[in-house]
Amino acid sequence: MKTAEQIALDVRSGASTAQRELDASLAAIHARNDELNVFLYVDEDGARAAAKDVDDKVARGESVGPLAGVPVAIKDNMCQVGVPTTCSSRILEGWRPPYSATVITRLLAAGAVPVGKTNLDEFAMGSSTENSAFGPTRNPLDPSRVPGGSSGGSAAAVAADMTPIALGSDTGGSIRQPAALCGLIGVKPSYGLVSRYGLIAFASSLDQIGPFSKTVTDAAILLEAIAGHDPMDSTSLPEPAPMLSAHVNDGVVGKRIALVRELIDGADPDVVASVTRAVEVLKDAGATILELSIPELQLGLSAYYLIAPAEASSNLARYDGVRFGLRVDGEDVEAMNTATRTAGFGAEVKRRIMLGTYALSAGYFDAYYGQALKVRTQMIDAFKRAYAQADLLIGATAPSVAFPFGSKTSNPMAMYLSDVFTIPTNLAGEAAISVPFGAGEAGLPTGVQLLGPGRSEAQLFAAARVLEREERGS
Ligand code: GLN
Repeated sequence: MKTAEQIALDVRSGASTAQRELDASLAAIHARNDELNVFLYVDEDGARAAAKDVDDKVARGESVGPLAGVPVAIKDNMCQVGVPTTCSSRILEGWRPPYSATVITRLLAAGAVPVGKTNLDEFAMGSSTENSAFGPTRNPLDPSRVPGGSSGGSAAAVAADMTPIALGSDTGGSIRQPAALCGLIGVKPSYGLVSRYGLIAFASSLDQIGPFSKTVTDAAILLEAIAGHDPMDSTSLPEPAPMLSAHVNDGVVGKRIALVRELIDGADPDVVASVTRAVEVLKDAGATILELSIPELQLGLSAYYLIAPAEASSNLARYDGVRFGLRVDGEDVEAMNTATRTAGFGAEVKRRIMLGTYALSAGYFDAYYGQALKVRTQMIDAFKRAYAQADLLIGATAPSVAFPFGSKTSNPMAMYLSDVFTIPTNLAGEAAISVPFGAGEAGLPTGVQLLGPGRSEAQLFAAARVLEREERGS
């Protein structure tokens, strides 16, 4: 499939049309969606209208945006007015949002064509997309394996060439880990860079929307289009979107890049081998390599599984059978609330709500939630010390390549460990990118993770591009 960059060039120059590009995307979706279960909803009418709008503008000689005519897949936890939005949960089945997320508005303003909503782990809780109420998504590279999660549908859409780019959300790794398992670029932007307005909240202090793509440049173009201050999100950074695509070829000459022991410890040998080779490539490209140990990172998983469920237990209280989607009747309001939530939420969501409610309850608050917040502060300080010595950090994205269905579903702890290398970035509110680099078991792709301080996206893309050029030869 063509890159987003190429599609936009062709549509602007008249070499192609948005409607032709959309037809190709829809044909690819129809060819494999039954097999892979990538899209929960394909918005054919809305997409045709958006594509026609772009073509009309081109015909009138009006300016069209940097994503003119580019089909985009949207994780189904982002609101799009009138389009069913489920979070892969029965509790939201049939709900159509009355407004659009800022990212959707900005995509349309950039000329992009949202084609539909992709599958995810229910409320973005999971690492394999097996927690969806609407069935798992299959990995297009090997349909007997998971695509990762929770943004598994968006990753699979790009990996299966259904769309060149997609949006996911990353609370503890849900963009980077599926990107690694599907052989894609995946970006977790700095907290506040992309508006969360219209993103259905999981853990508000950690959630960020970000891009999936096959090339670094496409990820940069997509992030530029959706980033920048939004008055509708009180945690939005005050400045406009940074320039990213103009800097992808800046290289790494003179950059200090630190290999972090805790970001490879416990990973499969083939994953470690890919990281080691990536370090060599960056060194050959002019970076200064050092090695660091940041022991605080080992506390990330424990702190995350208190903070994220605590926030989730509060955020998910709104699904009470009164305002959204599902209602199961009971003899009084409380019985109705209980029956609705019992029927509407899946096992993992219930587990998180119970964990979070417990961690926040009187008598336990200081011991669990309060303690986790202290660990979070220590982690922020530890990253700050690391970034005094290095410009960027490097490690693995996920401990292994894509794993077979069912291999971790009976053991929540094994599943949680999929995110051991990605979670620290979310706790610190910083930025990271996963780059497909090398291969492991069964020839499946391995992901290398580059991490940077807040607002370091341009540097991260430049370093990722060095690895990409080595892998793809261009
Ligand atoms: N897998 C992690 C979890 O289950 C992260 C999910 C995410 O980033 N949305 O919470």
